[in-house]
Amino acid sequence: MSENPYQWLNKSLATIHRANWYRSVKTIDGLPGAIVQLEGKSVINFASNDYLGLAGDERLIQAAIAATKAYGTGSTGSRLLSGHRELHRELERAIASLKQTEDALVFSSGYLANLGAIASLVGQKDLILGDIYNHSSLKKGAILSGAKAIDYNHCDVEDLRSKLELHRASYRRCLITTDSVFSMDGDLCPLPKLLNLANEFECMLLIDEAHATGVMGKTGAGCVEHFNCTGGELIQIGTLSKALGSLGGYIAGSNELIDFLRNRAASWIYTTALSPADTAAALRAIAIVRQEPARRKQLQHNSNYLKQQLSECNLFPSESPIICIGLDNPQAALKKAQQLQQAGIFAPAIRPPTVPTSRIRISLMATHTIEHIDCLVAGIRH
Ligand SMILES: *Cc1c(COP(=O)(O)O)cnc(C)c1O
Repeated sequence: MSENPYQWLNKSLATIHRANWYRSVKTIDGLPGAIVQLEGKSVINFASNDYLGLAGDERLIQAAIAATKAYGTGSTGSRLLSGHRELHRELERAIASLKQTEDALVFSSGYLANLGAIASLVGQKDLILGDIYNHSSLKKGAILSGAKAIDYNHCDVEDLRSKLELHRASYRRCLITTDSVFSMDGDLCPLPKLLNLANEFECMLLIDEAHATGVMGKTGAGCVEHFNCTGGELIQIGTLSKALGSLGGYIAGSNELIDFLRNRAASWIYTTALSPADTAAALRAIAIVRQEPARRKQLQHNSNYLKQQLSECNLFPSESPIICIGLDNPQAALKKAQQLQQAGIFAPAIRPPTVPTSRIRISLMATHTIEHIDCLVAGIRH
């Protein structure tokens, strides 16, 4: 009985090391952007979710400072108690307007938005069918909800159909969940077909636009807009922390959906409201997304250019600024990432358990120049 109850941590860490699964943080200094200071060295940054280059934008910084001066650093309470400010409502109206939904609700993060939505929309009598490559927050939300959760093969509508035929009738409600741009692969979900299936089998459909908001669609509304599905009845989730350069998450949809979530989503009710600075920065970012479509066009141009330049590589299919090069094993991916970093390029290795197969994951920004991309291409071919 003298065994230390924390002894297992050591063993578990050793296992993680042996599998080459060990991760640690890397320190970045200074403002975010296409060039950053990584562990004291200037590198071209292909690892950022700041697709439009807004996280270091002077206008967002000034908006955050002004909101902090006006309202303080903390919002001091949950939205339903003392935390609600008019600024939150303005941001929610701006999101709903961008998304062309009736209303929206902001959360402290995209992760919390997914947990809160899923766990309040379905329960033990219900079924969740999720794409097997879905983000962790969708998968953990499914577990938290207590619903029966079944994965379907990645973007495979035939597999989804057969699972619906097999299981749908045994459950009360059914929720289909999917990323819109898959975060570790860069491909898009087959949204129109998913909507048809949801309709046919009386399912709700939740789409996670984390990597698509500000990036995809003519006005930056996301994949729903990209696929011309605007106005369809579905639950749209996203984050304020990627292309919008701030922090926080949102859910956009019908008045009824949002009203319900305000009364049932525990990760919204029992947590402190978004800080004034984050709220104001996100609000400013949405205005820029709408006023400066050139950023989105440049990002698209950069993505097309890189794909062309790397056409001889083992590229994953992608219609987004996330472009992955497949490698045979975690060691090969790590070696390539280290080699790139020595050449002044930050493009991380992504490996199991995050994804089933190892890769170098490149995410492009509107603020990358052709020279930056040429440098990356040279480093990869090397
Ligand atoms: C990043 C991400 C989230 C989480 O958003 P945060 O605001 O960073 O918590 C959720 N879903 C997907 C698909 C993501 O890529």
